[in-house]
Amino acid sequence: MRISTITNWAYGVTVVLTALSGAAFIMSVRSAVDERIAVEEHLKLDSLAEELALGAEVRSDDARLYVMRGEERHLLAFQRDEEAERRLEAAAEQLLSVGLPSAEADALRKIEAGAEELDKIEIEAVEAYQRGERGSAQAMIFGPEHERLQSELLSTVSHLRDLTAARTGAQLDAVRERSDWWSLVAKTMLGLTGALFLAVLYFVLRRRVAMPLIRMTGIVGRLAKQDYTVEVPADSRRDEIGEMNTAIEIFRANGIERNRLDAERQADQRTKDLILQMMHRLQACQNQSELADIVARFAPQIFPSIAGGLYVLNNSKTVLDRAAEWLAPHYSPDSFPASECWGLRRGRPHASGLSDGDVPCQHMEGERTAALCVPLTAQGDMIGLIYLEEGKGAAIHLEQSRLYLELIAENVGLAIANLQLRENLRSLAIRDPLTGLFNRRHLDETLQRWADEHGLDSLTCLMIDIDYFKRFNDEYGHDAGDMVMQYVGQTIRDIIGDNGISCRYGGEEFTVLLPRQSEDEGEALAGTLRRAISSVTLAHAGRTLGTVTVSLGIASSPHGGSIETLVSRADAALLYAKADGRDRAVAAGKMDMRIAPSDE
Ligand code: GH3
Ligand code: MG
Ligand code: MG
Repeated sequence: MRISTITNWAYGVTVVLTALSGAAFIMSVRSAVDERIAVEEHLKLDSLAEELALGAEVRSDDARLYVMRGEERHLLAFQRDEEAERRLEAAAEQLLSVGLPSAEADALRKIEAGAEELDKIEIEAVEAYQRGERGSAQAMIFGPEHERLQSELLSTVSHLRDLTAARTGAQLDAVRERSDWWSLVAKTMLGLTGALFLAVLYFVLRRRVAMPLIRMTGIVGRLAKQDYTVEVPADSRRDEIGEMNTAIEIFRANGIERNRLDAERQADQRTKDLILQMMHRLQACQNQSELADIVARFAPQIFPSIAGGLYVLNNSKTVLDRAAEWLAPHYSPDSFPASECWGLRRGRPHASGLSDGDVPCQHMEGERTAALCVPLTAQGDMIGLIYLEEGKGAAIHLEQSRLYLELIAENVGLAIANLQLRENLRSLAIRDPLTGLFNRRHLDETLQRWADEHGLDSLTCLMIDIDYFKRFNDEYGHDAGDMVMQYVGQTIRDIIGDNGISCRYGGEEFTVLLPRQSEDEGEALAGTLRRAISSVTLAHAGRTLGTVTVSLGIASSPHGGSIETLVSRADAALLYAKADGRDRAVAAGKMDMRIAPSDE
């Protein structure tokens, strides 16, 4: 029940009880008035009877004294008493007219009649005495009749007083009883009012208002300090306190929801910041290994419960190799055929083991888990894949983060494409398009750098020139000449490999730099090269070109001269080899300077 309803009821009942109690008091007071009236009536009747009896006696005495002594003053007193007696009789008549119980009225009338008869005898005796019949007058007034009447009067008075006393006594008892009853009713009502007040005070104010309010004050205080761990006990009461409790519960739920949204917003903002940081770094990457390192560092920070790997397609676009991984992904191998990934086949993100029940990728191994393959594309070309799998009990789920994951994949793809583009441009700038070897510009830069760094204790240079090259052009055409050039370049690259830097110096001349190798080692390698090049019979467009020979000059630094003079010294040795008959290698340190190079 609502507190306002209880209060209104309590108020109404209190008013009714108070009114009843007031009425009972009024009734009680009225009974007291009745009691007073009964007492007064009793006194009045009692004293009237008394006075009547006494008056009759006094008159009898006065009459007797007059008859005995003959003194005038007794006669006068007797006559005065008669007047008083008339007043008393009038009073008695008035009482009788108001109404008395019949027994009392009879007694009163009897007293009046008795007094009247006595009066009559006494008047006769006085008159007899005045006539001089003193003896008969005395006989009358002291006679037995007078005596009888007098004693009868007295006994009637006494009887009347008894009757009056008995009646008024009963009346008083009834009135007192009624008064007591009303008084009891009034007190009971007052008691009930008090008890109701106390009950309202205890149950409504203490139990239903004060105690819940104190409890709620504590809860609201904690909620104000954003302590949402506070429990709001369930309160099913349908009163104002129950409504307040519900309001507090809603307030707490709102607070929790607001906190959750705040935390989500902050986490989202942190994710965005990290993605932005990662993008900035990806754009500044110099090579693919740096890029892979950045992805492996940032991805687990952005999505702490999502493991994954960055796969890059090989040159033939058939196999994906893992370039980076984070949080140890379990279910995808280091390398797998591109055809095993639905994401790559379809050219769009593909989910395996997620709630949508899509077909899982074949490269997924063992236990199924929620995984997402996001292909990396750049300018419409497939270049790799970001593979992601949900850790056990992950707080962040793939589906929730899909947008961000796709954004990351898009940026990683663009970054890889940029790197590849940059690499192509760089390659165009430093490589010779015909042979794929470094160009002269790269050779000059490399030599200059090494010269500046002073880091090499030994450097050997081979200058290589194809013998009678012009003849290939002249006899078989330029394309055949190009093919010969490519063949020589490829052979140089195959034999030198990572041991040195192979360049096309210009025309049909090549340069090889061999760091940390002596002139003798260079000479040995030159011999190998020369033999390898001349060992193959070339053919072009169905025509046999025959074999091709090369002449080589070898020089080294610091033995023999500075890096700055290295190429010219090797070139001088080459000229020497040409002049000496071609198809040979000549080391600058062993060159017989007496033989002058010829223009043959
Ligand atoms: P030597 O034995 O004295 O070196 O005689 P050679 O014919 O090799 O030398 P020469 O300098 O007389 O001829 C070089 C020729 O190489 C001249 C030029 O037309 C040709 N050549 C230069 N660059 C290219 C090229 O890129 N492709 C083709 N097919 N020919 C080229
Ligand atoms: Mg030449
Ligand atoms: Mg030549």
